[in-house]
Amino acid sequence: MKILMASSEVHPFSKTGGLADMVGALAKTLATLGHEVGVLTPLYKGIRERFPAMERMDLEIRLPLGGRMIEAGLWQMTVATGETIYFVEQPEFYERDGIYGTSGGVFSDNAARFLFFAKCAAYLARHLPWQPEVLHLHDWQAAPAALVVNHQKYREGWGNAPRVCLTLHNVAYQGHFSGDTFGLLNLPWDYFHAEGAEFYAGFNCLKAGIVYADLLTTVSPRYAREITLDLGHGMEGMLRKRAAALTGILNGVDYAEWRTENNPHLVHPFNASKLRDKDRNKLALQEELGLPVELGTPLFASVTRLAEQKGMDLLLPALEEMLAAHEMQFVLLGSGDPALEQAFRVLAERFPNKVIAKIGYDAGLSHRIEAASDFFLMPSRYEPCGLNQMYSLRYGAIPIVRRTGGLDDSVVDFNDDPLRANGVKFDELAAPALANAIRKALRIYADKELLNLLRRRGMAADFSWEQSAHEYLRIFQPPPV
Ligand code: ADP
Repeated sequence: MKILMASSEVHPFSKTGGLADMVGALAKTLATLGHEVGVLTPLYKGIRERFPAMERMDLEIRLPLGGRMIEAGLWQMTVATGETIYFVEQPEFYERDGIYGTSGGVFSDNAARFLFFAKCAAYLARHLPWQPEVLHLHDWQAAPAALVVNHQKYREGWGNAPRVCLTLHNVAYQGHFSGDTFGLLNLPWDYFHAEGAEFYAGFNCLKAGIVYADLLTTVSPRYAREITLDLGHGMEGMLRKRAAALTGILNGVDYAEWRTENNPHLVHPFNASKLRDKDRNKLALQEELGLPVELGTPLFASVTRLAEQKGMDLLLPALEEMLAAHEMQFVLLGSGDPALEQAFRVLAERFPNKVIAKIGYDAGLSHRIEAASDFFLMPSRYEPCGLNQMYSLRYGAIPIVRRTGGLDDSVVDFNDDPLRANGVKFDELAAPALANAIRKALRIYADKELLNLLRRRGMAADFSWEQSAHEYLRIFQPPPV
């Protein structure tokens, strides 16, 4: 199958979050399975210098954007057999510090920057010589391409237009702009209505994709249901209308990177039959972070963006209660909301021998924390897929998660199925429920046989990309005529 993806970020070229990892890994896996894959992405500042092997293509893009005519160059780089990355070079839009903005805020011209990108995606789907059969769009930045393709297909007679799939990575981010922004698309205004691209008088990029894509996916089966019920951030009604086109496919894990052996970030390799070597990682981390070096003290951890979504505000009172009453340690690695950063610093000051709060982003340390910890806490309010719980399963850190989205789809609690249990789940979005879950973890910790059973099960769980890639291929197939 011939697939062109479009994403505003792609690992290893650009990244602010899980989107980049997902697109990079899915493209790589589809190409490995023998398919032809292109990935379109903006040429941000510094990418060309970091990847000098890329070549300029003999293809100039000239597209209207409202009243202006915008020109762009196109670069390409073959990264593997069957996988080519295409970069849109438009220095005015993309040659700047930051992808969506800087610490001072988001860029004021993001509508123009990404509507132009979406237009490029539709243009290349039509003009690349290899004629993609599927155009796979990711998130609001690429979503309006679904409307552009739909228009050219049904009103301008584009006979062999590709099927268009939009993947919703997090419905909270929609690209919602003022109504006049719709003019940048240079399309008839009769698309701008409540059943189309309009949303409360504004132009909503994600909604344009939801309405006009042939296929919709999101990153876990449970999140696919939740966004039609109460977690759709205003899109519930439209997603219910499109329910027949919507599929939830769990993201995979890149096990070439997230592994417990031959991992440059880990001094002490381990596996499910050498759990004693996991203990050595715990002792090393306690030493590294300045915690009392005690193998017998249960170690809890979180590695996360400190954002409302992640529910870390609920964790604070739950930890206060549990740390005061029990022998346990807690390590946080995270950054984001300054008030939460400060609250975790204060917690560490109140429990100097029990809590370490590392404020910042540190990929190597995140591996060491996963390898060292006994339990991994994810009390998310909502979680489209979540990756850390899958990493922690592989690293023998038992996940404690709220029953939502991809967390529910990837972790099994004792009450769900004792024969497959690999973690602890709680339902209620409240600190006492979370404290209870931690209490349950302490009981598991006290029963070494059970602890090791859950660990081994978690380490054996397989969330490799191949399985998810096959699910994408299944839905990409044209319906039988
Ligand atoms: P989201 O994409 O919503 O942030 P995920 O769980 O899907 O949540 O993915 C988060 C990714 O970012 C994981 O790979 C996690 O290890 C990493 N991460 C988050 N915060 C940090 C941090 N402070 N330091 C290192 N890695 C982090």
